[in-house]
Amino acid sequence: MEPTDSGAPASRLRRLALPTLPYAAVGVAAASFGTGVYRVLHNGGSLFPSGTVGWSLAVLTGLIVGHLVALGRDRWWGGTGSGAALTLAALLLYGWLPAALISLAVVVLVGGARRHRWRQALLHGSVDLLGIGAAALALAACGTVPSVRDPWAPDSWQLYDMPQIVLAAFTYLLVTRALLWYSLAPPGAALSGIARTALVRQALVGVALLGIAPLIVVVAAHRPLMLPLFAVPLIALDSTLWIARVRAEEQLRDPLTGLPNRQHLLDRTWAALDQAEREGARAALVLIDLDRFRSVNDTLGHMAGDRLLLQIAERLRAALPRGAEAARLGGDEFVVLLPTVDSLTSAQRVARNLISVLGSPLDLDGITLVLEASAGVAVYPDHAVDAEGLLRRADVAMYQAKRDRSGAEVYEARRDGNTPDRLGLLGDLRRALDAGDVELHYQPKVGFDGHVAGLEALVRWVHPDRGRVPPDEFIAIAESSGLMPRLTEYVLETALGQVARWRAAGLFVPVAVNVSPRDVHTPGFAGAVAGRLARHGVPPGALQLEITEHVLLEDPQRAADTLAGLTGHGVKMSLDDFGTGYSSLVHLRRLPVSELKIDRSFVARLAVDNEDAEIVRCTVDLAHSLGLLVVAEGVEDDETWERLRDLGCDAVQGWLVAAAMPPEETTAWLRARGEGRSAAADITAPADHDADQPVT
Ligand code: C2E
Ligand code: CA
Ligand code: CA
Repeated sequence: MEPTDSGAPASRLRRLALPTLPYAAVGVAAASFGTGVYRVLHNGGSLFPSGTVGWSLAVLTGLIVGHLVALGRDRWWGGTGSGAALTLAALLLYGWLPAALISLAVVVLVGGARRHRWRQALLHGSVDLLGIGAAALALAACGTVPSVRDPWAPDSWQLYDMPQIVLAAFTYLLVTRALLWYSLAPPGAALSGIARTALVRQALVGVALLGIAPLIVVVAAHRPLMLPLFAVPLIALDSTLWIARVRAEEQLRDPLTGLPNRQHLLDRTWAALDQAEREGARAALVLIDLDRFRSVNDTLGHMAGDRLLLQIAERLRAALPRGAEAARLGGDEFVVLLPTVDSLTSAQRVARNLISVLGSPLDLDGITLVLEASAGVAVYPDHAVDAEGLLRRADVAMYQAKRDRSGAEVYEARRDGNTPDRLGLLGDLRRALDAGDVELHYQPKVGFDGHVAGLEALVRWVHPDRGRVPPDEFIAIAESSGLMPRLTEYVLETALGQVARWRAAGLFVPVAVNVSPRDVHTPGFAGAVAGRLARHGVPPGALQLEITEHVLLEDPQRAADTLAGLTGHGVKMSLDDFGTGYSSLVHLRRLPVSELKIDRSFVARLAVDNEDAEIVRCTVDLAHSLGLLVVAEGVEDDETWERLRDLGCDAVQGWLVAAAMPPEETTAWLRARGEGRSAAADITAPADHDADQPVT
């Protein structure tokens, strides 16, 4: 179990430097080794077998080390893989000193070949030495003390010696594994899923080694010349282990950039949080998102986009502060884990530095690009105490940074709209939509001559615990969470089903559905609407979509394309809430709408405020000159109704006429007005319908 071997070298070094255990291991190993060598030499014994056996063992060791070095494998063989079988065999046959010498030779050879890894080699070598020592003690406890002068020859092995051999192997594996785990992982670190799989794999290898070590002993005693042949099965065993490990690591990495993926990052974050908790320190996550990466992808193609991401990943890696780790969450989102930070401001400083590095000009096939990035920072334990929570908070902060174009933002609870309450409501809304528990009510738009110009579909949701939730409230949540397309789909589907039923019953009233700017920016929206109309057998003229000028704020070109597509299919557009935002002539002319709805805030003050009356008059004139119909919403009294008629408005909507009603009530209301009895509706002044009291 070497959980850190797959981590960044920097963090491994930091961890190596932290606990004193590695130093103790190196010290104890060096001391006992020195004493052992001195005692053997002092007694005139030899350290290593001479002659054919000695040379053959040396050649075998050389082959295995050469293989490891040639393949550039970082992994030390001690305790795992091919080397352990050899060490164990030497231990059984000649005692701990020759085994330790083999181990030492490898430290020197591998350390020399991979110089930057000397620290790791030294630690692993010492751990191996201690494991060998422990195994030798276990053998000695059973009365077996082999040496070069007096080897434990396999000819003398009896059946009852087998448990001894198993015990020695087991002790060796256990001690090396435990020491490595404790020196590399901080004490008390949770055993992650990855570490657990590694443990199982180690156990299996241990069994394989158990089988091979005694065979080496037998060959060494009888046919030493054939010893180097063991290189073949040992290297094969090693490769199997290696492949298994690479596979396991691939599952933790993003295939494009080779950076850790989301799962791995969360694992690492959990470990970092454990450590921070023990040390009473802070840790932070920095979420980085590239601005406008999508447009690069769209204009230059995915291949170019991939190359760009590679460059970004490379820059990120190079700019990481000591101990930090970077991961790619997918798309153009990256995360940096800072296992220790001093303060919120220092975390923010790191984030700013990272995005300024990413923001310097990039070269892509001769094109110079400047990609800006936004970063959100969340700090443990200030903002969250779990990895997932921290990531979510960093995400919220990142959106804040994007919206404010401020580069990097630290999470602030008071600016986070995603309170647990909101998140709960969002989940409930999603379930209600799936269960069909959301209803549509219909509010008529009526002409001054009394004819019903249409119905507006308005969502109604009664929450099982909270009761009626105002549409403004849950629509805002749906809009900021990505649930909006699902809601609109639901409303369109329900409304069109209702239109089809009314038409079948001889009621030919058009229905208006509110769509959010998000919907208009969803690719394929126009086609999807056309498809739905066809499926319900409803002519496009029977559907109206109410949009607001906000559709023009984000991507005016795409919005214009979608709206053109919709009107091309014959769907009518209505501009809702006119007068509230930045509505101006300019906007009006760019939107292919056929109707304009004056916002109820103006209508409400119409009778009392001359200025508002003047605005309404201008609006009506302007709209008419552009060939648009004008509807006034929120009409509540007769006086307003009369003013609107005098100003030349075309239709009104409001409680004076009727509030939004459930479908059956709407049917009854339409029938009562004589809709569907004849094509030309009854001409009745709405003032005569005061009896239709609102029941919203
Ligand atoms: P809106 O599109 O401006 O809808 C008109 C709102 O005014 C409705 O509120 C309606 O009940 C209310 N209203 C109608 N007559 C009167 C009146 O005489 N006086 C006053 N004070 N208010 C009146 P509601 O149903 O609460 O909807 C609020 C907003 O929620 C809607 O404003 C619309 O923007 C949004 N909304 C409602 N249903 C949907 C939907 O299915 N999809 C989307 N995207 N948005 C919807
Ligand atoms: Ca509306
Ligand atoms: Ca409105």
